[in-house]
Amino acid sequence: MEPAATHIRLLVLTPEHCDFLWYQALLKGQSEFSADLTWCPDATDCEDLISNTQFDLILWDVALFGGTELAFLQYLQVASDDRPIIALGAETGAHRLLFLKRNGAADYLPKGTLDAHGLWRAIGCAWYRRQLQESNQGQLGREVASGFINRDLFFDRLEQALLRASRGRYRLALLDLNLNDFRMVNETLGYHMADQLILKLAERLRQALRRTDSLMRVGGDEFAIIIERFEDSVDVARIIRNLVSVLADPILLEGRSVAVTASIGVATYPEASDSAEVLMRRANRAMFEAKRDTGTSYRFYNQQLHSSVGHQLQLEADLRSALRAGELELYYQPRIDLISDEVRGVECLLRWNHPKRGLIPPDEFIPAAERSGLIVPIGYWVIEQACARLREAHQQGYPGLVFAVNLSFRQFHDRKMTETIFRIIYNANIDTSLLELELTESAMMHDPDYAQRCLRELNQLGISFALDDFGTGFSSLSNLQHLPISLVKIDKSFVQELGQSGDAEHIIRAIISLAHSLHMSVVAEGVETESQLEFLREQHCDEVQGYHFARPMPWQHLLDFLAERNRQLTCMQQ
Ligand code: C2E
Ligand code: MG
Ligand code: MG
Repeated sequence: MEPAATHIRLLVLTPEHCDFLWYQALLKGQSEFSADLTWCPDATDCEDLISNTQFDLILWDVALFGGTELAFLQYLQVASDDRPIIALGAETGAHRLLFLKRNGAADYLPKGTLDAHGLWRAIGCAWYRRQLQESNQGQLGREVASGFINRDLFFDRLEQALLRASRGRYRLALLDLNLNDFRMVNETLGYHMADQLILKLAERLRQALRRTDSLMRVGGDEFAIIIERFEDSVDVARIIRNLVSVLADPILLEGRSVAVTASIGVATYPEASDSAEVLMRRANRAMFEAKRDTGTSYRFYNQQLHSSVGHQLQLEADLRSALRAGELELYYQPRIDLISDEVRGVECLLRWNHPKRGLIPPDEFIPAAERSGLIVPIGYWVIEQACARLREAHQQGYPGLVFAVNLSFRQFHDRKMTETIFRIIYNANIDTSLLELELTESAMMHDPDYAQRCLRELNQLGISFALDDFGTGFSSLSNLQHLPISLVKIDKSFVQELGQSGDAEHIIRAIISLAHSLHMSVVAEGVETESQLEFLREQHCDEVQGYHFARPMPWQHLLDFLAERNRQLTCMQQ
């Protein structure tokens, strides 16, 4: 009797229905495999289909993507939980295959030479590889659950990971995590409960890690974690932060709440060593160093890494309390209209009054806020504050002043963004046409369909949008013309090049004329000198912002500045 055919479910991403039918025809009539295909013709439907359809593998026509091809490929990997992705496209040549494989595709097939045999072969290979991987991971999961894994096995895994790291030229970190005073836990709870505790803990630790990291129980109260492919110490910092925070919550066991703490030693490849044995010894030594501290703590074998990660984590912790302690403040920088010479609006710029370090500019803490996700609540606080000032400006006799707020990439991609902003402006009861949100190209281009939806929704509430730091990214204005953007801000780097390079002049001229032809206004940032101002005036730039007129300043100073400027303008008119 023939063995039953293996059933493979494929999600087919292609814009063309005829291509979908073609793949379907190619995949018919096999005895070993049978394929079940679902068609997805549009990048916007992907998310729904990926989360609601059962499939084993993705066939992806590279003509279909949202954002950039690469970003879309990465998105597919994450969204599909690392299902194999077989790419199909018009281009031939090994470089294409290499490029896509290097970036996570399982295979690449040129459509021009595609036949049933080639397609089945690629699908079969990717499918078997995935099966193998899953069974390995399953085994790993069971190892954690059932108790120890043999040190030799662990050693073997570490060696393989090191090999991959050296081949792929990326870094790797080995974490040795040892529970503190576990003997006491054993004695008080008994072995059975202590074992339950370890299982629960393993589950939590697993959740704190990325899917590509491996967790192994290598001793009664000891875990080893291999973190592959980290780019910089910030990645490791993030993982350590997650581990520390899951360890902080007590574990509930048969109605009892048990608190555990751990000491974590970290050794990284290539800094600490390139041999598995030495790396293990060094992580272990760092772990014993960490044991000197009370509570959950960590140590890097490498001192320099230790301080940079420590600095990151400290900054994040400080920032978390900064919002609560009211240490954040908005500064306001005026934007001058070049026709009327009036202050048309202000950009709200965040400052942190750190109790020890003094006033910290945003470039020093916004990256940390982005990484930790704190930018989301901070960003909403900024909008709230800006709305309150907008009302106040109205009461102080500046009713038409525009308030511009910067939105970070991460905040823009917060699922509750439109809803939260709506709530804030509703509660603040402001004239929304005076609120402007500044976004960078990358925030919009990452997922243009999402950007379009959000911008339209907020635009319907009256809010307008500005494109910040324009010219530093890669998009062209015409790509963005279908978005409701009313203003373009030329990045200060171009303005500051004026007079030094002819390129800057050409670029600024081109941006202004293109923006105007698309009915967008233009603000030049970073105007510091009279000659820069003159050039911008000649080019019919609409507004300018820069130290030449005013630096960002606290609210009270802004009120003085506005009053003084009004006085001067009235004098000139008389
Ligand atoms: P940005 O939005 O491009 O803001 C303009 C930056 O240029 C401000 O820096 C401003 O102080 C500076 N600037 C203005 N005029 C001049 C000038 O004539 N010369 C020079 N050299 N610089 C000038 P700042 O305040 O340090 O902010 C830096 C960046 O931090 C901002 O760039 C913005 O991307 C970000 N940022 C500031 N506040 C917030 C916020 O509330 N939320 C978010 N997500 N990002 C913010
Ligand atoms: Mg800005
Ligand atoms: Mg800017």
